[in-house]
Amino acid sequence: MSTADLDERGIIVGCPACGQKNRLAYERLDDEVRCGKCKRTLPPPGAPIDIGRTADFDRLVAAASIPVVVDYWAPWCGPCRMVAPELQKVAARQAGRLLVVKVNTDQLTELGERFGIRSIPTMAVFAGGREVARTAGARPADDIERFVAEAAHLPLG
Ligand SMILES: [Zn+2]
Repeated sequence: MSTADLDERGIIVGCPACGQKNRLAYERLDDEVRCGKCKRTLPPPGAPIDIGRTADFDRLVAAASIPVVVDYWAPWCGPCRMVAPELQKVAARQAGRLLVVKVNTDQLTELGERFGIRSIPTMAVFAGGREVARTAGARPADDIERFVAEAAHLPLG
């Protein structure tokens, strides 16, 4: 599902025009970035990004210049499957204003334990390097957007 990868400094995205890989630095996710090859403006990430490693998660939430919505989920969890398309909508509609990432708590057990995730799905909002809000259970995209906007003091269009 995810079309982006993370490294120690940013999100790696393919340019939709020429295919060139570009890095969107975590500290400048709210800036316009142009493709290094064809110079076209790159669209901000508009889909949930799967977190592969705990270290990537830590760097992202520490440095991200826009709020990060974390979806803690697992493949066997029915409500998680229900909320997945809602999070896709949120990621697409709020691209550039916030980032949606997914943490599989079966794979990244350390994160689930560190943040005391007791039920899934759980959604958390990180802003300014720390968790500012959390909610458990599936909910529709509109509710998720309201929850994030309130938590991160974000005007959502
Ligand atoms: Zn390009």
